Amino acid sequence: MYFRHDWAPHKGFPHTGPAPARTIHTPLHGGRDVANDASTVFDVVILGGGSGGYAAALRAAQLGLSTALIEKGELGGTCLHRGCIPTKALLHAAEIADETKEAAEFGVLATFQGIDINGVHKYKDDVVAGLYKGLQGLVASRKVTFIQGEGRLSSPTSVDVNGQRVEGRHIVLATGSVPKSLPGLTIDGDRVISSDHALKLDRIPKSAVILGGGVIGVEFASVWKSFGVDVTIVEALPHLVPLEDENSSKLLERAFRKRGIKFELKARFSGVEYTESGVRVSTENGKQIDADLLLVAIGRGPVSQGLGFEEAGVAMDRGYVLVDEYMRTNVPTVSAVGDLAPTLQLAHVGFAEGILVAERLAGLKAVPIDYDGVPRVTYSNPEVASVGISEAKAVELYGKEKVVSVKYNLAGNGKSKILKTAGEIKLVQVKDGAVVGVHMVGARMGEQVGEAQLIYNWEALPAEVAQLIHAHPTQSEALGEAHLALAGKPLHAHD
Ligand SMILES: Cc1cc2nc3c(=O)[nH]c(=O)nc-3n(C[C@H](O)[C@H](O)[C@H](O)COP(=O)(O)OP(=O)(O)OC[C@H]3O[C@@H](n4cnc5c(N)ncnc54)[C@H](O)[C@@H]3O)c2cc1C
Repeated sequence: MYFRHDWAPHKGFPHTGPAPARTIHTPLHGGRDVANDASTVFDVVILGGGSGGYAAALRAAQLGLSTALIEKGELGGTCLHRGCIPTKALLHAAEIADETKEAAEFGVLATFQGIDINGVHKYKDDVVAGLYKGLQGLVASRKVTFIQGEGRLSSPTSVDVNGQRVEGRHIVLATGSVPKSLPGLTIDGDRVISSDHALKLDRIPKSAVILGGGVIGVEFASVWKSFGVDVTIVEALPHLVPLEDENSSKLLERAFRKRGIKFELKARFSGVEYTESGVRVSTENGKQIDADLLLVAIGRGPVSQGLGFEEAGVAMDRGYVLVDEYMRTNVPTVSAVGDLAPTLQLAHVGFAEGILVAERLAGLKAVPIDYDGVPRVTYSNPEVASVGISEAKAVELYGKEKVVSVKYNLAGNGKSKILKTAGEIKLVQVKDGAVVGVHMVGARMGEQVGEAQLIYNWEALPAEVAQLIHAHPTQSEALGEAHLALAGKPLHAHD
């Protein structure tokens, strides 16, 4: 194996080594008045307790840095309370609904009687509550000073919160993101909603239009269809999940068509009006779709307005805080992580960026993140999972004649057959070189992305992966089979 990265230590960060550990034994919800303790200057003050912020706090404290974490809402942020976790609980409830409906196909007698939305919410909220409690305990156990309140950057080394000034040798901005809308499109929380509202919806609509065919839109479309909603996705670009390899988008579209999930592609939203009982959504190409509600899922924008970032001299672009590969802003004492920075908006990216900053501040060798090497999963039915670059991008980078790809159809994979799922694993390789893209569609493919990311990030050659034995019958075998094919010795595949 050879490695893409040179693992070079970063140069020039002013903090030279770990600060002496502080032992501030503070209960989670601000048992100590930090502002009245004028002597306290934390090593790190973190603004925002979501994935990026709390990961930075946990790692910084672990490395002996005195750490304050300021959160205006709930520790855990979007991912835990309004994002990853609740949506995945909904998707699991949806999977159970589908499996109940399809039980007879497996010889199991079951009757699908419907969805008890309150029961679904209880299940989802219990999952969130359990994880929330665990996280609160973790933050407390690491001796992070947790401050509940809305903070504002008051200088490059301080944050004002609850009328008090919290000083830090270093500040990490981690205020995250919120749902975006379009000019003139008002989210009323009732008939025109965002993902925040969709997660709490106390009714199951008969029909819904989803504006945006990205990850969030596609996941809600999948849940709602399983719950019996007539769903139409409106997407301005030519494909659903447009950031994925085109083959994955097409496979998802085929599967959605089969499931009866409708979608309008290359359809730009032009307006929405209220009807007697719902909404009428119009597109620039003259389509009108009536539905009970409209979910706006066109992306998320950074939370930075009015928080003093610009006044402190922090360079920004359209609300995002600009950072280098070490998550440093242009102000030497200020870093930014998570959705607030213009990198991939994913919880695990936030974790990684938070850890990177904490380690850098503690004087450890920090390794920049290869964002292409970050696994990406859309947890719809079927799932879409990928790591590395698309074939189109590989062609752009290396030239058409240098790029090879294979597709392995899950129809040839025993476990996938047992699960009755359809899909493919597509590999993209630089000729005679490493695998630079793994693109998977099918049930549970999100679970295969762990192996795929090792293959990509360790720059594995197809022959090296082909050498590894995959357990039979598992879906991971399909990854093995795809590499056998790429290595020129396909087993369960037609030559
Ligand atoms: C519906 C949905 C589904 C998602 N699913 C996934 C998924 O499956 N996998 C995945 O990897 N990612 C998923 N994401 C994305 C993921 O949730 C985000 O990338 C992640 O939460 C970003 O973390 P963050 O720390 O940057 O920001 P956030 O989680 O948004 O946290 C920022 C925190 O800062 C706090 N804050 C803001 N301003 C202030 C202030 N002035 N003072 C104090 N506190 C403040 C906020 O209250 C918030 O808690 C999903 C997102 C959504 C919306």
